[in-house]
Amino acid sequence: MSLTLFDLSGKRALVTGSSQGIGYALARGMADAGAHIVLNGRDRTKLDKAATDLKADGHDVQTLLVDVTDHDAVRIAVDAFEAEVGPIDILVNNAGIQHRTPLEDFPAEAFERLLQTNVASVFHVGQAVGRHMIARNAGKIINIASVQTALARPGIAPYTATKGAVANLTKGMATDWARYGLQCNAIAPGYFDTPLNKALKDDPDFNDWLSKRTPAGRWGQVEELVGACIFLASSASSFVNGTTVYVDGGITVSL
Ligand code: NDP
Repeated sequence: MSLTLFDLSGKRALVTGSSQGIGYALARGMADAGAHIVLNGRDRTKLDKAATDLKADGHDVQTLLVDVTDHDAVRIAVDAFEAEVGPIDILVNNAGIQHRTPLEDFPAEAFERLLQTNVASVFHVGQAVGRHMIARNAGKIINIASVQTALARPGIAPYTATKGAVANLTKGMATDWARYGLQCNAIAPGYFDTPLNKALKDDPDFNDWLSKRTPAGRWGQVEELVGACIFLASSASSFVNGTTVYVDGGITVSL
């Protein structure tokens, strides 16, 4: 009976950056909980393959090919989708990139790209979808932050800045939009084995450091993010607003 709180049947969830990695895992997890899924990315081939894989398991899947850094393109795509297909009840702002270079050598162009992809996209897609949610007096927005919301590491200062901003933008969204029946929250993943982290996964020194530094003693599996996502996407979290849930094996609570 209490499990109905977590049921996503009949809900439609848009997950940005969901052709692979964490976004794909969250999309699959919400599909398993009953949601219709809208996958997003820029690469048509990758996106179609991800959609085909989910459909093969019997899930209802659509795709929205749009670059989430393009404010106007996002608004046009979301408005058209809402008009032609139907409401987006759940938005996961997941698309993100990394760039590793010591700060003194960090290219300005890479800094700007990180800001656009990791932060501005949350505003662009959040506003485009949020306007429709506000009109319906209901909606769930989940922004993907990071352990770098709380902690820095060498070589990724700009990424750290963007993920701090994601958590604060989440607070702002909740503050502006809770009165319209929306719940806006964030998930902060620890270290997960995805294409974004290939360089770290391939580095034995990093693996050694991570297993000692993380109380759980290991990398996370992307499926371990699904529970937090379903909680924040479902009516189970109807009075949870503006918070960041860390799913990190304890790395941010210990030294
Ligand atoms: P991946 O690199 O594996 O996947 C990124 C996805 O985002 C791809 O589907 C990519 O598709 C899409 N994407 C990138 N830029 C854009 C854009 N401008 N418009 C639309 N889609 C875009 O990353 P992860 O799965 O590892 O990371 C997902 C999120 O989780 C990111 O926000 C990341 O910062 C965060 N995170 C990841 C952690 C980890 O350990 N992996 C830890 C903490 C946070 P395409 O190629 O088609 O653009």
